[in-house]
Amino acid sequence: NSHLNPKYTFDSFITGSGNQMAHAAALAVAEDPGTIYNPLFIYGGVGLGKTHLMQAIGHQMIKLEPAANVKYVTSETFANDFINSIQTRTQEEFRQEYRNVDLLLIDDIQFFGEKEGTQEEFFHTFNELYANSKQIVMTSDRLPNEIPKLQDRLVSRFKWGLPVDITAPDLETRIAILRNKAEAENLEIPNDTLSYIAEQVDTNVRELEGALLRVQAYSTMNKEDITKSIAADALKSLKLNKEQNGLTVGKIQSRVAKYYRVSVNDLKGKKRVKTIVVPRQIAMYLARELTDKSLPQIGMEFGGKDHTTVMHSCDKISELVIKNDEIKRAVNELKDELRN
Ligand code: ADP
Ligand code: MG
Repeated sequence: NSHLNPKYTFDSFITGSGNQMAHAAALAVAEDPGTIYNPLFIYGGVGLGKTHLMQAIGHQMIKLEPAANVKYVTSETFANDFINSIQTRTQEEFRQEYRNVDLLLIDDIQFFGEKEGTQEEFFHTFNELYANSKQIVMTSDRLPNEIPKLQDRLVSRFKWGLPVDITAPDLETRIAILRNKAEAENLEIPNDTLSYIAEQVDTNVRELEGALLRVQAYSTMNKEDITKSIAADALKSLKLNKEQNGLTVGKIQSRVAKYYRVSVNDLKGKKRVKTIVVPRQIAMYLARELTDKSLPQIGMEFGGKDHTTVMHSCDKISELVIKNDEIKRAVNELKDELRN
């Protein structure tokens, strides 16, 4: 009973430019756990396959070693189990459960930030497993040092092994993922239609799968085969939503630049002076709030910055709009203007 989703195997995982490194590292860990990359730290945006890849390691390990004790939990489950064990005075059982495993998979570890006691407990769990050469795999939406309020000693341990990122799949990979899904579901879909869907949905794999489901449902409803025009009809409502407010990142940048009397190039550039950094962060924050662009896409529109930079900016401004009246006023004014 390792709580693994049977669908999340290496066999069903399509590799491409955005996930090749992470996939190779995951395979290496599954075949030789507790030795080379310990811990393995997989990070990247939502819906890009982190959970899938992490669980694939678990499946593979059980396949190679059926007696292996694999435990998969989200960081919230770990935290809840820990709190329950304090409440019910079963800390000994809790420790047994988490420290006697061959492979510990902790998903979405960014939620450990803030939770002091849980971090303390995880620190000891980690040390025990590590000392016994047991494999630890973690996922997160960002790098260890970017997780707010994560203790330094955990940050440094998380970097002992290998941090690998997953980024959004390119067009060819998206087509391959769709083709694989269609085959798994026994759907007859012509290639031009698969390409069309992959072109329309360029954010993440979860949305790609959602689009395929939508097209499938639409064709069933209309008793038509899945063709490009059926796909176009099915996805029309998605597109409409996106284009409804007509806001682009470019428009947001111009408006913010004007408001702060800086240039758009400064917003896209690398200057670290405060008079530019704050407007830049606000522009990224507004792009995130007011458009459907993904973090990597926003990063691209700001001179090719990393998605973690965008995420950091969004976090920063979310914090400042609560604490700082001037920023709050600026953000609200800009939002109102851009929406009209
Ligand atoms: P994350 O944990 O990064 O948010 P998930 O692992 O939950 O993302 O993946 C979202 C969905 O996309 C899942 O259904 C998963 O099976 C699928 N998926 C993601 N990446 C791939 C891939 N490379 N090949 C096949 N399916 C994928
Ligand atoms: Mg996940």
